[in-house]
Amino acid sequence: MHARHRAVLPGWLALYYDEPLELTHGEGRHVWDARGRRYLDFFGGILTTMTAHALPEVTKAVAEQAGRVLHTSTLYLNRPMVELAERIAALSGIPDARVFFTTSGTEANDAALLLATTYRRSNQVLAMRNSYHGRSFSTVGITGNRTWSPTSLSPLQTLYVHGGVRTRGPFAHLDDDAFIRACVADLADMLGQARPEVAALIAEPVQGVGGFTSPPDGLYAAFREVLRQHGILWISDEVQTGWGRTGDHFWGWQAHGAAGPPDMLTFAKGIGNGMSVGGVVARAEIMNCLDANSISTFGGSPVTMAAANANLNHVLEHDLQGNARRVGGLLLERLRAACAGLGVVREVRGRGLMAGIELVVPGTEEPSPEAASIVLEAAREGGVLIGKGGGHATSSVLRIAPPLTLTVAEAEEGAAVLESALRAADSAM
Ligand code: PMP
Repeated sequence: MHARHRAVLPGWLALYYDEPLELTHGEGRHVWDARGRRYLDFFGGILTTMTAHALPEVTKAVAEQAGRVLHTSTLYLNRPMVELAERIAALSGIPDARVFFTTSGTEANDAALLLATTYRRSNQVLAMRNSYHGRSFSTVGITGNRTWSPTSLSPLQTLYVHGGVRTRGPFAHLDDDAFIRACVADLADMLGQARPEVAALIAEPVQGVGGFTSPPDGLYAAFREVLRQHGILWISDEVQTGWGRTGDHFWGWQAHGAAGPPDMLTFAKGIGNGMSVGGVVARAEIMNCLDANSISTFGGSPVTMAAANANLNHVLEHDLQGNARRVGGLLLERLRAACAGLGVVREVRGRGLMAGIELVVPGTEEPSPEAASIVLEAAREGGVLIGKGGGHATSSVLRIAPPLTLTVAEAEEGAAVLESALRAADSAM
């Protein structure tokens, strides 16, 4: 399969593992490979399997909807789409909210940029350093993590802002309050020089691909005051942080609650639990500033909407946000204990069911993608799948984001495997 993949797919599609995995099926928090080996899934296909693999309610909803209407288009009324839009509008916290559905996070951010730049009549955008928002022509321009950018060309003029990463960079030595003050001063200084007016700031509340790193709570509330003075919109990219993933909050922006809701938020990945669902939520005056028929006719297809509605029911009815807080808290504690005394670990961090372990060459601050690869391979050997990410032109941060239904026993089991994988990397370094 690997050879066939190589022969027909783009060379730049990154595959994990020395011997890439072909997954054939899943159930709950587990997946199986083509050889019949079972793995505990601690990454959910980059947080895409949000609740559980083969969640029976989602499977049933998809089968029923597929048996009725496979796909219409945005030309017709679509009950599952209207129902999901109503629910997301109410959950978003954005007043007078309108929802446009897309098929991916990239496309959702693309739509948000189209809205913001049209509404503000400016192609200047603020993005965070080390951010990731997709790799389409426009989202490459707002992806501050240059490792992930295949081209430097962009239809946008982007200004990169400090603050998304708390523990590295020029302000890392400051305490939380001083860090926020320094970032705000830097932003205000930058805006003093920006011409013409900037359209929007887009930011991930917790940077996903960037290595599960986040600013102190309140940074975006402080930014908001400056943005408002200039009429600049705030777009929260909730592709990884939405739906209770961070435990304490349903959306990542709520950690900066004093700022009120953002002007727009984007979502994707988990809400479809594997089906292609993304979207943008915006205040009506922003959403309706476009003079267009539709940005895309494919988003919001009835089958994907049925899946998302069933998945969202499961999240809310089973308090998966609470589960992310409780089990995620235990997992983080367990991982911190496992990493204590290991020179290869620089930091263990996270919120809810989003845990990052930053690896370095022992005794230095130098990121170690080599150690991350060792842990990834050893964890796979031990039967646990995890991810990696992080900035500085390397993937040196282990990313752990299991489905939100993770049990305490599974958290313990996964943490034990990761502990021995980390020890293996520590000795190898
Ligand atoms: N925004 C964020 C924060 C993401 O993590 C990603 C994907 N990793 C995207 C946008 C792009 O989403 P997609 O891959 O669905 O296009």
